[in-house]
Amino acid sequence: MEAALKLDPAVQDFVRAPFRKMLIDGKWVAAASGKTFDTVNPATGEVLARVAEGDAEDVERAVRAARRAFDEDGWASSKPAERTRILLRVADLIEKNAAELAQLETLDNGKSINESLNVDVPAAAGTFRYYAGWVDKVYGQTIPSDPAFFNFTLREPVGVAGQIIPWNFPLLMAAWKLGPALACGNTVVLKPAEQTPLTALRLGELLQEAGMPDGVVNIVPGFGPTAGGALVKHPQVDKIAFTGSTDVGKEIHRETSGTLKRVSLELGGKSPNIVFADADVEAAVQGALMGVFFNQGQVCCAGTRLFVEQKMHDEFADVLAKHAGGMQQGPGLDPSTQVGPLVSQEQLERVTGYLDIGKKEGAKALIGGERNTGKGFEKGYFVKPTVFTGVKNDMRIAQEEIFGPVVSVIPFKDESDAVLQGNNTFYGLAAGVWTRDVSKAHRVARAIRAGTVWVNCYNVFEAAAPFGGYKQSGYGRELGSYSIDLYTQVKTVWMRI
Ligand code: ADP
Repeated sequence: MEAALKLDPAVQDFVRAPFRKMLIDGKWVAAASGKTFDTVNPATGEVLARVAEGDAEDVERAVRAARRAFDEDGWASSKPAERTRILLRVADLIEKNAAELAQLETLDNGKSINESLNVDVPAAAGTFRYYAGWVDKVYGQTIPSDPAFFNFTLREPVGVAGQIIPWNFPLLMAAWKLGPALACGNTVVLKPAEQTPLTALRLGELLQEAGMPDGVVNIVPGFGPTAGGALVKHPQVDKIAFTGSTDVGKEIHRETSGTLKRVSLELGGKSPNIVFADADVEAAVQGALMGVFFNQGQVCCAGTRLFVEQKMHDEFADVLAKHAGGMQQGPGLDPSTQVGPLVSQEQLERVTGYLDIGKKEGAKALIGGERNTGKGFEKGYFVKPTVFTGVKNDMRIAQEEIFGPVVSVIPFKDESDAVLQGNNTFYGLAAGVWTRDVSKAHRVARAIRAGTVWVNCYNVFEAAAPFGGYKQSGYGRELGSYSIDLYTQVKTVWMRI
């Protein structure tokens, strides 16, 4: 299948280099081992670019640089106005290079160019701009204590932050992590996901162009257990911020007990999206579609358990399936594409594995239910948008995170049944509620145990609004003022007067 969009020459140059190097202490370097790995274009299954493969030795070099930048070079004690200026420049540069970044993201991840260009890239710029505004607003307190003393607090950066990010929103997740960390004066070693390292590396160049001092941000691409594991275990890393699967989050939780470094974890989800019969049905259908098929369903907060009030369940499922069947599937670079390929062969196998499990469990695919192997799709990792009915909340497809374009439509009797079934999961990342009854909306929003509840909307984000999980969806809140808490610690100072 021909991609409809003409590639930006800068993107062609970026992917054609013999291999992309990693950023350590302001320099672009090969891995100490000399190893590289391939990143693949999921629309074609072909190698897109080669990338230096960082492991423990590279992490060691990067942590040393970040340590020096923090302990000696004075990033934390730099004038706030200077940090603000650099972060604002980063935001401007992301916008200036938006077309290039969006194409690179789409090539590497598979997502539609409309999403990359109109959602991810602007949100990444907006996140840096939002945190640029926080730099001089991180206040301590003056405490009215014994008059013989002057007692106050300082909010100081945590130190060196190890940031491990996933492949579903590569540039945006880098922005969510870097923005607050840098605003608060921390230095960073960032490890992008092995499936999608390219936009983080391009962002590294933009950080340099914006005037980021050497060693403040180091970017080490590589694999989870090696590069990621080395970062998690490193005694000189003060904090780990992780977004990814619940299993790896639990491993990080265990691994960091040895050094007691601070940890924040944003993990998986199996979010209930609850549609009451009194909802604006057309809006709910659109919300349900976007809630589960956005980014091919590779979204931790995707509304994958779609609870529909029993009396309109069948009709709603049919309309949803009709819409899902009409969604345009294709390579992300084609501007008409609504559903692109999954990120990798591994993800393709995982999702199609769950399609088989669902059918064996007795669920019925009203639409989709299989890989798309039509003409032009043979080599890419395409799965048809799938709507399952006949799903019970205790089936594996209703309990386990699939991370693909698959929704289970499940009936409920009444409000308490919706809340009971909605909460019947060990995840708690997000939820949706669709109703015209304001009181009901308030009651259900409070009763659902999740870090975000969207009422008559879904997947709404802003840099100012916190995001994170209840239960096994993780701990710590990113974005808004809550990220400032993650990247600062409080010092109490007593001065005898
Ligand atoms: P997924 O299963 O969706 O690929 P992962 O949780 O495996 O999600 O990956 C998210 C990020 O965590 C990636 O950057 C990956 O390299 C990293 N990672 C995976 N395993 C580990 C590990 N054992 N230690 C540290 N980081 C890891």
